[in-house]
Amino acid sequence: MQITITRTTTPKAKPDWKNLGFGKYFTDHMFVMDYTDGIGWHDARIVPYAPFALDPATMCLHYAQETFEGMKAYRHEDGSISLFRPLENIRRLNNSDKRLCIPALDEEDVLQAIRELVKVDADWVPTDYETSLYIRPFVFATDIGVGVHPSHTYKFVIILSPVGAYYPEGVNPVKIYVEDEYTRASIGGTGFTKAAANYAISLAAQEKAQALGYTQVLWLDSVEKKYVEEVGTMNVAFKINGTVITPALGGSILPGITRKSMVELLKYWGHPVEERKLSIDELIEAAQNGTLEEAFGTGTAAVISPIGELYYEGKTYTINNFKTGPLTQKIYDALTGIQWGKTEDPFGWVVPLETK
Ligand SMILES: *Cc1c(COP(=O)(O)O)cnc(C)c1O
Repeated sequence: MQITITRTTTPKAKPDWKNLGFGKYFTDHMFVMDYTDGIGWHDARIVPYAPFALDPATMCLHYAQETFEGMKAYRHEDGSISLFRPLENIRRLNNSDKRLCIPALDEEDVLQAIRELVKVDADWVPTDYETSLYIRPFVFATDIGVGVHPSHTYKFVIILSPVGAYYPEGVNPVKIYVEDEYTRASIGGTGFTKAAANYAISLAAQEKAQALGYTQVLWLDSVEKKYVEEVGTMNVAFKINGTVITPALGGSILPGITRKSMVELLKYWGHPVEERKLSIDELIEAAQNGTLEEAFGTGTAAVISPIGELYYEGKTYTINNFKTGPLTQKIYDALTGIQWGKTEDPFGWVVPLETK
């Protein structure tokens, strides 16, 4: 794929690298490519980061035909920059797009676009351990008109954001509200996709949990409100009686790459791990009888987020004395060690980038 590059003539001042937070700053450039029915994807370009002018009747603004991805570029100690399992993200984007009637992207073209964009903005990849360059590819419908049908035109865009350590004071457990009113996704719907609309419909529950003093919600299935699904926008896992249990992917759960890596890591270590249905009753019983040893969420942004407390039907349950469990910490250290090139990568997950 031929990518034309137009460099900015007015580079931005870099943010304070010690106070990046998450998703607040954007780099000097972005990647843009258009789709037109009958032509396909065309006009791949890297241009200065800038607003889009959108007609008020642009379809994505009305019917949310939009998908996205989230991945990171990591700076290693020797100055080199790497990605983590990028093809997993690219394939998932195409799976999301298929569900939303958005035309497929060529996997190699997307990887090339990411490589070239990160290369152009390489001086935006922060250097401190646990900081990274967050990569946000997204696709949206650009037809003009308010009829409901799949768009005939789209834009594929990649923007980059330097992000700080998710836990500047170290990994700390969070309090989670088991949501028994709202649901996130149903089988046959879009739960397995990173469709923008999924996040809009999750906000009310998040707001409710936060008003009650909880960081996030634990979602239950939408049919019986019986089975555990995810925690906020992360996958979830529990160590019960020595075995790590994570809900099986059944169409309503987002197939997280951190989740997949955690499962593969545990198998590599020979640690018992199960992907299966887990009912809230089984989980609460384990919390009551002391066999619920550890709990954590998994996702690209935080990598591993320990859970210290669950609230369900009027009662609170503390997990591991509200401390990060030893296995949770071990998984966090192993994954971040591989991602930031501190430890060896026996899986071939790390994909180095050329930056010169
Ligand atoms: C992105 C996301 C995850 C985590 O996926 P990763 O590939 O590990 O980042 C989990 N659940 C939801 C709902 C998500 O959007």
